[in-house]
Amino acid sequence: MVKIIKDLIPKSNRNRPGNRMKPLYITVHNTANTAKGANATSHAAFVKRSSTVVSWHFTVDENVIYQHLPLNENGWHAGDGRGTGNMKSIGIEICENADGNFEKAVENAQWLIRQLMTEQGIPLANVVPHKRWSRKQCPRKLLNRWDSFKAGIATAHTSKKATTKPVKATPVKNTPSKSKASKPKKSVNLPSGIIKVTKPLTKGAGVKSLQEALAAVYYYPDKGAKNNGIDGYYGPKTANAVKRFQLMHGLVADGIYGPKTKEKLKALL
Ligand SMILES: [Zn+2]
Repeated sequence: MVKIIKDLIPKSNRNRPGNRMKPLYITVHNTANTAKGANATSHAAFVKRSSTVVSWHFTVDENVIYQHLPLNENGWHAGDGRGTGNMKSIGIEICENADGNFEKAVENAQWLIRQLMTEQGIPLANVVPHKRWSRKQCPRKLLNRWDSFKAGIATAHTSKKATTKPVKATPVKNTPSKSKASKPKKSVNLPSGIIKVTKPLTKGAGVKSLQEALAAVYYYPDKGAKNNGIDGYYGPKTANAVKRFQLMHGLVADGIYGPKTKEKLKALL
């Protein structure tokens, strides 16, 4: 969990245009500022100056994340004028100051992106480099490792662990190994039909089967809760597990268990 400090650009600034935005993409940048002290705090001060003409949503360094714009407003960071990059994407700058820890900053950015994807329903395919929108070689330190950067988003955990550790030790007992080759031991029958959160909460054996299936592919409804949250209730936590599963498999992340989600789950079991 990285601290996010909301320190918004004043509304009177010209780099806060205030155009309404529904974010469909996340655009990744590097600051290209290697000066000592050019960390997130210093960029937060820079972007708030009345003379600054550019703007973006977040700056990430190894310690902290600053938010400069609300997520429903656009910034000027993509270099494509009134194109999709500027008008429909959340801009994230990753610091590369000489006295910072770049790899840790990257890890923090991956964590942030993962949160934003879940929150805003943005698929991994729509996490793009600045280069996608203009010819700028940005994020200059990540372009040559873009695929592994994106792979890291999928596995980004809320607790910070060193990236050098290939396998995350899990304290939960009886958890199947995360090796791709391993198959869940007991067969899981997937419910047919569509399940979504309703009031009062949807309940039943079908929901339980779905939860078991999600847990078998490591999308626990509530890891840490009793029986990993497998309780037969399709509440917000189960919907969230469905959402996370959908996001990672290129489906519409609506948290609703429908035919496409079923098909994908079935293929993995
Ligand atoms: Zn850029």
